[in-house]
Amino acid sequence: MLHVLSSAVFLPRRIDPPAVLVADLHSHSRASDGLLSAADVARRAAANGVDLFALTDHDDLSGLAAAREVAAALGMRFIDGVEISIEWGGLQVHIVGLNFNSQDEALNAGLAWIRSGRIDRARRMSVELEKVGINGCFEGAMRYAENPSLISRSHFARYLVEIGVCKDVRSVFESYLVPGKPGYVTHRWATLDEAVRWISGANGVAVVAHPGRYKFSRLQMRNLLDEFKRCGGQAVEVISGSHSQDNVNLFSRLAREYGFLASCGSDFHGPDESYIDLGGTQPLPEGLKPVWEVF
Ligand code: AMP
Ligand code: MN
Ligand code: MN
Ligand code: MN
Repeated sequence: MLHVLSSAVFLPRRIDPPAVLVADLHSHSRASDGLLSAADVARRAAANGVDLFALTDHDDLSGLAAAREVAAALGMRFIDGVEISIEWGGLQVHIVGLNFNSQDEALNAGLAWIRSGRIDRARRMSVELEKVGINGCFEGAMRYAENPSLISRSHFARYLVEIGVCKDVRSVFESYLVPGKPGYVTHRWATLDEAVRWISGANGVAVVAHPGRYKFSRLQMRNLLDEFKRCGGQAVEVISGSHSQDNVNLFSRLAREYGFLASCGSDFHGPDESYIDLGGTQPLPEGLKPVWEVF
């Protein structure tokens, strides 16, 4: 009786649900393999209603200043980001770093070291493509790379589309540039421990990027997450433009089990080359701790 009475007396007023924060913490500009300038990526994020935005170019911080400036002018919260290329378990894996000190010396030196290997790798890729009769790829890909030290497979893919070898970038990656296909070469990237150390050392948060994309067994994925945690890694991308609903469910579960923070990003590269647009991801599932709680 008392219970009924008290709930009648203290009937909650109708409160509107809190507005969901639109976060996009994974995106690329022409400082790496994106198609838009860093300023334009930030403008597009703001126009799409993003509240919390990170630019995460591959192995490079040179777009951050321009993106930060545009974000400030448009009243959008900006987070410094990067996506570091590492090799783990024989595959290329990506570790996103968020909210670090972009002036940190060890981080900048580590990224410069990764970049320094890319030109040599591109030459070796070009030699492999010549072997299957596709010539001029190094010069052709370089024309697409605004930042030559960041020459990437995406630039090669755009050149192969230009010369009519494939109809689009996605089909290039099905037939070329991946393990077992022409144009793929092995390469020495950073290690997991180095990437996490550089990010944590710069007071940032290390995040396993798009874990659903790696062709690992369940056991290998657990080994990766175990080692990542031992190194000091704190978060996983539960929501990514490239994740299926099954991926979201699996990595929500693993994030809870491991006590990882959850991140969310579109992995936008350009209007015609992306799974989804900036800010277009679904919200984080209930019960996960968003990575931005520690920013
Ligand atoms: P790199 O860092 O030079 O090895 O290039 C990797 C980049 O290639 C990724 O960041 C993606 O942007 C792009 N990429 C990799 N696999 C694919 C794919 N299957 N389809 C489209 N783009 C891809
Ligand atoms: Mn990319
Ligand atoms: Mn990636
Ligand atoms: Mn990416």
